[in-house]
Amino acid sequence: MPELPEVETMRRGILHLVGSRIADAEFPRGPKRPISTTPAPARIAATIRGGQLTAVERYGKRLALEIELPAGQRWLVIEPRMTGLMLVTPPPTVDHARLVMRLQRAGKRSPQPLVFWDQRGLGTVRLVNAGGLDRACGPSVLGPDGLVVTGDDLQRSLADSRRAIKVALLDQHAVAGIGNIYAAEILHRVGIDPRTVCRRLPRRVWEQLARVTRTLLTEAVRLEGSSIGDELYQTPTSRLGQFQRRHRVYGRAGKPCRTCETPIRRIIQAQRSTFFCPQCQSLSARVGT
Ligand SMILES: [Zn+2]
Repeated sequence: MPELPEVETMRRGILHLVGSRIADAEFPRGPKRPISTTPAPARIAATIRGGQLTAVERYGKRLALEIELPAGQRWLVIEPRMTGLMLVTPPPTVDHARLVMRLQRAGKRSPQPLVFWDQRGLGTVRLVNAGGLDRACGPSVLGPDGLVVTGDDLQRSLADSRRAIKVALLDQHAVAGIGNIYAAEILHRVGIDPRTVCRRLPRRVWEQLARVTRTLLTEAVRLEGSSIGDELYQTPTSRLGQFQRRHRVYGRAGKPCRTCETPIRRIIQAQRSTFFCPQCQSLSARVGT
């Protein structure tokens, strides 16, 4: 958390600020351990002050704010990781506001705040040039985006893999943007057992998997992501996401499957929880050799 739909919601929620001038930027020195930044916080703040925000892009689960500076274009690459949020409304707590910018839009009287807030503080902020953007978000680190990934893309990167399909879907080189929540929901929708070894999946399944990935993530973006129980995710204007209402397996161990009423199982794969319905997700048995 946040995954592609949540980060895309952040992007859309701050897009109206494109064209603004960065009137001020600071990394407040609160009581919390500072987040990781490159270069040092004061250096980033001093560099971007006075710059103009010219675009907001998303790369997988990262945001890149394009800033026009006298020295040329730079990008502020923000990775929310576990609990990072971009907010234009007052943050839930002052102590966890990690980067506070004030953006002056043409024709507006006073600057508007844009805050990167992060409770656990595992998020990162990097200021990079074009080469740095490529190293942080380019094809050497991120595969095709989950909103546009194709069956051929998945097949090319995963068809020979000996990993379980659930673990492989979290590999950002294979497909960018999927995390623990959406991997579980995608596999339930396609009916694949999350333990299925990639190389045992037949060709037609990659096509289906890519199609479901695109439609499910698109639907989740439309509903502004998933806000679940003890997680803290909210949109830039402090609304909760709504896609959690459509979750069929994630976080539902022991509860009846919303499709067939079989109790949902929770297992651990690569140190992370996997939720699935043993009845609906029986594809591995059918493709077994
Ligand atoms: Zn089921």
